[in-house]
Amino acid sequence: MSAFKLSPASDPLRKFRSEFVIPTNRQMKASSVPDSLQDEECTYLCGNSLGAMAKRSKALVMEELDVWGSRAVEGHFDHPHGRDWMHIADHVHPYFAEIVGAKESEVACMGTLTANLHLMMNTFYKPTPDRFKILCEAKAFPSDQYAFASQVTAHGFTPQDAVIELSPRPGEFTLREEDILAAITEQGQSIALVLFSGVQYYTGQWFPMEKITKAAQIQGAMCGWDLAHAAGNVPLSLHDWNVDFAVWCTYKYLNAGPGGIGGLFVHDKWSSQPIRAAGWWGHDPQTRFAMPSRFSAIPGAQGFQQSNPSVLATVSLLGPLQLFHEAGGMIPLRERSLKLTGYLEELLHKSQWWITPEWAGEIQLREDRGEEHGEFGFTIITPRDPGSRGAQLSLVFIPLGGRTMPRVLRLLEGQGVVGDSRKPDVIRLAPMPLYNTFEDVERAAKVLEEVLTEVKTSGDIKRAE
Ligand SMILES: *Cc1c(COP(=O)(O)O)cnc(C)c1O
Repeated sequence: MSAFKLSPASDPLRKFRSEFVIPTNRQMKASSVPDSLQDEECTYLCGNSLGAMAKRSKALVMEELDVWGSRAVEGHFDHPHGRDWMHIADHVHPYFAEIVGAKESEVACMGTLTANLHLMMNTFYKPTPDRFKILCEAKAFPSDQYAFASQVTAHGFTPQDAVIELSPRPGEFTLREEDILAAITEQGQSIALVLFSGVQYYTGQWFPMEKITKAAQIQGAMCGWDLAHAAGNVPLSLHDWNVDFAVWCTYKYLNAGPGGIGGLFVHDKWSSQPIRAAGWWGHDPQTRFAMPSRFSAIPGAQGFQQSNPSVLATVSLLGPLQLFHEAGGMIPLRERSLKLTGYLEELLHKSQWWITPEWAGEIQLREDRGEEHGEFGFTIITPRDPGSRGAQLSLVFIPLGGRTMPRVLRLLEGQGVVGDSRKPDVIRLAPMPLYNTFEDVERAAKVLEEVLTEVKTSGDIKRAE
């Protein structure tokens, strides 16, 4: 008996799976799945990359297309379903506030993650000759790295001097809290901005957000967060944690569909911050259509809105956000997430191919030195402490250097187990508590075991690649 697996009777959120469309094995081209199972749903553990489609997203998008056809321009003001397009983003704001732990006035449904990150940095990254550094995690998502580098360059600094990246200790895979806090103290007053991802995309580490925020602010720095992998994954209290700003995308755990509309948080304490890149959608809605020539911002996050939002993208997000709300929000979802991910970890630890992260760290050091080790298998680099991770487990395959992982990924896909890879060595598996089941987790662990056995017995990894 597992302490993690819930029986159907004690798993009330299980019913939400029927609200989603999960592709079949055939649709996912899982060619190794037997014919009799081709039309079964695949084992989709990739909601960290692209969330599954909520049936409501489809229904709402179809409705809006019909309204476009039947009401045309009038849909902006007089909408048969009460969602006049002029106020469409306002339908999202209460849900966003609930998910990130904010007031409605602190969130905005707008733009896309990277664009929003630039907007926030334009306002909150104000370097001086003495205080100009951005402190972040090493191997941040490339888009964030590009944003940091271009921002510091625009202010006349070089990324080498101004972007400080924190790496795990040699032989370790994730950052230690004490090392992050020590770096903040050490860099001290030279830091203008601390900007981490809430949950790290590669390792799955959930950083101690409140402590980092506080430590940054003690040094007089701003603290912002990229919540791409945190929004809809872990419970957040951005307002209470006194976070200065945050940005997120919605196509990962929030299931808004590819390229979905983004989100942004600005703490109330900055509600009268001048808007540096104003647009008409951030203007007071009472007079927006009077077309005044002078900009008058909506106080708070929504003053940053620039353009009228994509209605199709917004309602596609609205569907799954209703489900988050109906499920009771992030607290019960997190409880189920802890069970699902805990169960996945428990099963993976039983694998004959599992290698402890401590040993895997040692193997990594040996590979770095060019030494042979003869080991084969995988480790989990995501922290073992459930309080330091979200839904995702990141599996690193050994031998390292991209020699094992691509074959494992292909074979998993062939069996209809959909995770995703990040080069060179990681496969990410993320059970999503709104639609994944304990059976999904069991199947993933079982198939992985078979796949690794097949890879091992089919011979020399180096030659096969
Ligand atoms: C997914 C992700 C992005 C994607 O950025 P877009 O602007 O939405 O394309 C950026 N940063 C991080 C950390 C991510 O995980």
